[in-house]
Amino acid sequence: MVIYADRINSLPPYLFAAIDKAKGEMMRKGVDVIDLSIGDPDLPTPSHIVEAMRKAVGNPTRHRYPSYEGMLSFRKAASAWYKKTMNVDLNPENEVLTLIGSKEGLAHIPLGFLNPGDISLVPDPAYPVYNIGSILADGKPFKMPLLSENDFLPDLDTIPARIARKAKIMFINYPNNPTSAIASIRFFEDVVDFANENEIIVIHDNAYSEMTHDGYKAPSFLNVNGANDVGIEVHSLSKTYNMTGWRIGFAVGNPEILAGLGKVKTNVDSGAFEAVQDAGIAALTGQQECVHNMNKIYTERRDALIAGLKRLGLPVKKPKATFYVWVPINGDASDFAKMLLEKAGIVATPGIGFGEFGEGYVRFALTQSVARINEAVERMHKLDI
Ligand SMILES: *Cc1c(COP(=O)(O)O)cnc(C)c1O
Repeated sequence: MVIYADRINSLPPYLFAAIDKAKGEMMRKGVDVIDLSIGDPDLPTPSHIVEAMRKAVGNPTRHRYPSYEGMLSFRKAASAWYKKTMNVDLNPENEVLTLIGSKEGLAHIPLGFLNPGDISLVPDPAYPVYNIGSILADGKPFKMPLLSENDFLPDLDTIPARIARKAKIMFINYPNNPTSAIASIRFFEDVVDFANENEIIVIHDNAYSEMTHDGYKAPSFLNVNGANDVGIEVHSLSKTYNMTGWRIGFAVGNPEILAGLGKVKTNVDSGAFEAVQDAGIAALTGQQECVHNMNKIYTERRDALIAGLKRLGLPVKKPKATFYVWVPINGDASDFAKMLLEKAGIVATPGIGFGEFGEGYVRFALTQSVARINEAVERMHKLDI
């Protein structure tokens, strides 16, 4: 008999397993399933990035072990991109660290900063890796509820003082998955104050900074005075450049915090494939037209879905960023998602999959064409919900 470690046994159950299974069954029955549950861009990586990869992969100097911190040329490109998009100055030598996708960095951070039993402040609902990474490091996640009445920002005043004093790290993520909420500079300032008062390291996941609607510009955490003293920002090329499969991202900010993450990385991985870093340089330094074009497509899809859901009488708000729509449901949202799948062949993610405070919501991802989204809306209409 195989005996798993307690930390594996204590992981929360994979709540999407049931829905994956139900979806598979529907597809086997021949149902034309419209999957609005996937947070993975459906459109291809822009061709100039693919071309850069094609060239790089033929270059033998790229075939060897990379350095764990990433090529200096990639870190320089990330630093220049930060200056241009966020107006933040970063030293590529020690304020930028290449990641094998941002999830890799997010999962490894708790290993660098939590001793067994140390508290990590994690939002709920959230991208699961903040919570799971903390558990895998034998830390104790303390949930910060993201509630509609607080515009899905954590209410720092409700964190008990004894918890705040004991906490070592805090994760935040705006523009937010799954709620699509955004944060103001003012909120980031409050986080910096809170972090200083309680000596907490802040990790801001900014994976969706470039995926915005209606001209909204998402700020960097590092735009706030003092942020670089207390935290880092984690970035991904996955969503911005349709590169989820390539595994490339980077972390920026406080050099000592990055060094702690780097120490973990030198011992558990050997860096991102250098050809992929070359492709990443092409993405960060090349034309950004592709980003604007993608956003136009997501905005059209958002408008189609929002209009459809409003006609159904659902109280949805137009998100200013991300490719998610977070919809409050009257009654049990998991039953609602189940009903959508069984009666209309539509897959949406029940909010509870992102944590207990996701209960009462479902998440739709805008990763299908306008035509498919309209088809989904038509099917929902026929259901008379
Ligand atoms: C998609 C996503 C990421 C990106 O992960 P990668 O590992 O870079 O592909 C990070 N954070 C959030 C909240 C996401 O939704």
